[in-house]
Amino acid sequence: MKLHNQILFGLLLGAASGVAVHVFAPGAEWARWTVDNVASPMGQIFLRMLLMTVVPLVFASITLGVAGVGDVRQLGRLGGKTVAYFLLSTALSVVLGLALVNALRPGAGMDPETRAALFESYRSQTEGLAAGDARFGIQTLVNVVPRNPVRAAADGDMLAVIFFALMFGAALTTMPNERAAPMLRFVEALGDVVAKIIDFAMRLAPVGVFGLIFAVTSRFGWELLGQLGLYVAVVIGGLAIHAAVTLSAMVRTLGGLGPLRFWKRVRACLVTAFSTSSSNATLPTTIAVAERELKIAPRVAGFVLPLGATMNMNGTALYEGVTVLFLAQVFGIELAWSQQLVVFILSVVTAIGAAGVPGGSLPLIMMVLASVGVPPESIAIILGVDRLLDMCRTTVNVAGDLTAALYVARSEGGAGA
Ligand code: ASP
Repeated sequence: MKLHNQILFGLLLGAASGVAVHVFAPGAEWARWTVDNVASPMGQIFLRMLLMTVVPLVFASITLGVAGVGDVRQLGRLGGKTVAYFLLSTALSVVLGLALVNALRPGAGMDPETRAALFESYRSQTEGLAAGDARFGIQTLVNVVPRNPVRAAADGDMLAVIFFALMFGAALTTMPNERAAPMLRFVEALGDVVAKIIDFAMRLAPVGVFGLIFAVTSRFGWELLGQLGLYVAVVIGGLAIHAAVTLSAMVRTLGGLGPLRFWKRVRACLVTAFSTSSSNATLPTTIAVAERELKIAPRVAGFVLPLGATMNMNGTALYEGVTVLFLAQVFGIELAWSQQLVVFILSVVTAIGAAGVPGGSLPLIMMVLASVGVPPESIAIILGVDRLLDMCRTTVNVAGDLTAALYVARSEGGAGA
């Protein structure tokens, strides 16, 4: 069996057995034991194997991407196109989410008792979230420049790591060839080593994916889905429409590839994103799929995709817009158009700032809630279903990154897809 089929098999088997456990043995001691001691560790080891490659991978691929472009003016063009595409696809995604949540009003009918019950059961989890730094302003921009790149790497501050790598690559391009060559060869070798480690990690993927999905599905309460059903449906429906319509259209027009072929070729990535809920953990797979399946030149893939994993989150942006308006509706707060515009802008901006890790956008959503006068702790109401929605939005985030790479590669004449 091919690896991507094995992964898919792990996903389906994990989901089926997790759901079976939840239905036939809800809350059983042995089930919890199995999750804590077998399924979760299996999933975590796989996730960590991938995550441990992310810092060297981002450093190597961005440095080589920039050095490969060669000249700073070209780099500006490539970067400009990339960021413009990110902004366009993210904005389209938020508009879709806001349109749906205004039309369907999933929060309007929730009764106050359900609201209070949900709030109580998940409130303890909001404390950890509120502790996160959710302030936004000029300092956010300053923080992109790390004081110490090693510390930034240790903290997982990917925007800062990216900035350092951009500078590193740009500096290399300005040096005479014979001086730059040893460092370039070193970074190339670093990239190769990391790619090998990722290969090792991916052999664990079928088992790891099984563990991750089993841990979620066996714990997941369907009752919650009932209470939050319409909200969940709006988020998932919006994500599905964004992927099937908007992204597909962009793949065809801007990427020059048939959408069906595109979705078929990238499915290994989608499965990895879905089961890890992390754009960062999926990045190694994303780069491999872009180069091998979509035939995108390594210098484009290595530049666009690491940026995308951190900055381009279509799914997260849509989810943020829907969630903020949903919670406003639950509390009977009517947001005027001008306030919805604020939600729109903040959703786009915070999706850029959110970390590509599970639940990375939650602290930022609390900030958006506060800025339009909805109590930020009310996020507790949706925390119970967040893991499921995280899986779905991360899948769309990663798909969006691949469409961006396809577009940039084609416009640079480097795509063979
Ligand atoms: N988990 C998402 C990602 O990694 C971020 C988020 O929306 O929480 O792409």
